[in-house]
Amino acid sequence: MDLSKSKDDLLRKLRREIDDECVLDAMRRVPRDLFVTAVNYAYSYDDRPLPIGEGQTISQPFIVALMTQALRLEETSKVLELGTGSGYQTAILAELAGQVVSVERLPNLAMSAKVILDNLGYTKVSIHIASDALGWPDYAPYDAILVTAAAPKVPQTLIDQLKIGGRLVIPVGSRWEQNLVQVIKHEDEREVSYLTACRFVPLIGEDAWDEES
Ligand code: SAH
Repeated sequence: MDLSKSKDDLLRKLRREIDDECVLDAMRRVPRDLFVTAVNYAYSYDDRPLPIGEGQTISQPFIVALMTQALRLEETSKVLELGTGSGYQTAILAELAGQVVSVERLPNLAMSAKVILDNLGYTKVSIHIASDALGWPDYAPYDAILVTAAAPKVPQTLIDQLKIGGRLVIPVGSRWEQNLVQVIKHEDEREVSYLTACRFVPLIGEDAWDEES
């Protein structure tokens, strides 16, 4: 099946709302079809989330692009991603940043993402299985932190892992609907900007949701 037309259509659509050319280039370079499950192959370049097993989803391409743009990455940036999932967003980050630390709580997803990312030759990525505490403090502080699962509020533990001037992009709200926000850490305050309404799977753990509730 030739997906090049649907990929072109998707990129044309993204271009209407995303103006960072580096982000658009990364979206062009990374083959989303390698990160979706076989049954969804034909829909790889539809602008929507798709199931990836274990009750999780690969994020909608527009949301991936919007979140990545809001991180304002540079070639030297060290970025933390919470929620590796399929590894698709991880690859987009690796196209733009100097070092990508990605944390996933479900070992099967972490493993399959690692295989795909290794095969694609992404060497700046390390994938870790989540511990109880949010994030990955061992490698902190980060220039940017991306959370690809929904939290009830902005977790202070993640702000603590950011550099001054660093950007955190996170969906915040209820388990069913959230606002995607960008938080910039200043010396003694947080600057919060609203990006869009969204719907993500819940972030599980301390400072977030219980698995069952
Ligand atoms: N960016 C991914 C989105 C995956 S869905 C993609 O596009 O494929 C969100 C992921 O966050 C799920 O895989 C889920 O297991 C993971 N997750 C939930 N809580 C987490 C936590 N506390 N730490 C790390 N990962 C978490």
